[in-house]
Amino acid sequence: MVTHERRGSPCLDCHKSTTRMKENYIVADRIWSEAGLGRTDGCLCVGCLERRIGRALIPDDFPIVGLNLSNILYQGLASERLFDRMGGRATLGTVMYAITDIVDCIVKSEAKEE
Ligand SMILES: [Zn+2]
Repeated sequence: MVTHERRGSPCLDCHKSTTRMKENYIVADRIWSEAGLGRTDGCLCVGCLERRIGRALIPDDFPIVGLNLSNILYQGLASERLFDRMGGRATLGTVMYAITDIVDCIVKSEAKEE
């Protein structure tokens, strides 16, 4: 992963830098194997991955991990098509709702302890 990062994580199929394309993301292992790849085989841009699996990516294909959350939370970090495939603002709303819920829980449990 680190060595790929250094070289701009070139797409295995079109050889463009996925970093420059703002398409660094993680998809579920089942998607990666559908594309005929193992976890550490390299990177694919959104377009080339979709060509390999024969359909557009959907929000369910992206596990909730740091890199994916960053793509949603920090404006301009992901390309427009990646942001779109990850559910864009709909997903952002879900994430914010979950965070509010967690904070609410913490506040309530702290209030109980006092
Ligand atoms: Zn590509």
